[in-house]
Amino acid sequence: MTTPTTITASDVINQAMPTGRQPFSDKDINTACRACSTAVTLADCGITQGMETLYKCPNCQSTLLVIGAPNRDGTSWPGRGYRLHDFVLRNDSDLFIGKHIRIPRSPDALAALK
Ligand SMILES: [Zn+2]
Repeated sequence: MTTPTTITASDVINQAMPTGRQPFSDKDINTACRACSTAVTLADCGITQGMETLYKCPNCQSTLLVIGAPNRDGTSWPGRGYRLHDFVLRNDSDLFIGKHIRIPRSPDALAALK
């Protein structure tokens, strides 16, 4: 069901934005690594592409963000992440998008990550 295409966080977020809006890029999305406190933009992160897209801290390689598929049965998993259309953003630390949007961290973002 999940196909290994390269989908970026900004792609997912742009899908959920009103049309006509200037699209965001990964450079516009700021976060900070909870493991090493390094402030980064998602454009700075290494991306590992597989069944899920993983954004890794460029300093300590901790996983900062996972882009995954929703649960197959359509149920939600509170605390897991934010569903935006066909994807779920699971951020382990707050994401700041542009100047005005904050996506708080999901406490279970990395739960059961294998
Ligand atoms: Zn780090």
